[in-house]
Amino acid sequence: MKLKIKRFDSEKNPHSRTDEFEVKHAETILNSLIEIKTQQDNTLTYRCGCRTGVCGSCAIKVNGVEKLACKTQLNENDLIEPINNSKILRDLVIDLSHEEKFLKNSKTYLKKLSNQEITTKDEKLIDIQSNCILCQSCFSSCPVYEVNKEFLGPYALTRALRYVNDKKEENTIDIINSIQDNGVWDCTLCGNCTLVCPQFIDPKTDIMNLRMKSVQAGLEDKSLVQFDSGFDSGFNTGFDPSGGFNPNGF
Ligand code: SF4
Ligand code: SF4
Repeated sequence: MKLKIKRFDSEKNPHSRTDEFEVKHAETILNSLIEIKTQQDNTLTYRCGCRTGVCGSCAIKVNGVEKLACKTQLNENDLIEPINNSKILRDLVIDLSHEEKFLKNSKTYLKKLSNQEITTKDEKLIDIQSNCILCQSCFSSCPVYEVNKEFLGPYALTRALRYVNDKKEENTIDIINSIQDNGVWDCTLCGNCTLVCPQFIDPKTDIMNLRMKSVQAGLEDKSLVQFDSGFDSGFNTGFDPSGGFNPNGF
């Protein structure tokens, strides 16, 4: 079976060529990459760890869509590329230094331990978000990075909701405050992140939940407030940021 792989050339021109390979054992894409590296071209570079969909390190794009190489069946003429939105270091390997920055900036870690008793119901509340394997597929699919490289992005915001809902964390307002700038209000709610997540996490809905929690904490989208007070479009939207929504405003 044939497959095509985008290859790294130089930092200025990372993907100037596409190589075609033929593999004998058409199983998962990761197995095909291993076959190519061990039998045809040992310069081929990719990341992999557990090989069973747990570590999240082998995320790539297959025909333009983010997938885990170890969980995806190879099909004839598949085009394999590195994921988007980060510097390409070699062939299918991207720079991951943004990950630590996003997680630190969104304060998604335990800060102030509460002594509250944790029930099974409490654990269930953070179960899905805790399954994130930091594969970066959602990060790659997110269109906001085209215009804002500082956007905290889907996995950091999903993790933020996990800690906001965690009864062990006492200082949840600190997290809510840290996700206002370049955070919950910058998402376009396109849903790409939800479509590509191999763990069936729904970052888009998590972000909508965080918006609701932000409003409950007395916070709002600063860009809307600025827009409303600084620009008179001549069209009454019915929304007054200090007075709430007036249905007769239209
Ligand atoms: S829903 Fe929001 S976070 Fe998810 S891909 Fe779209 S813009 Fe990015
Ligand atoms: S939310 Fe899903 S797609 Fe995003 S990093 Fe976590 S596991 Fe990967």
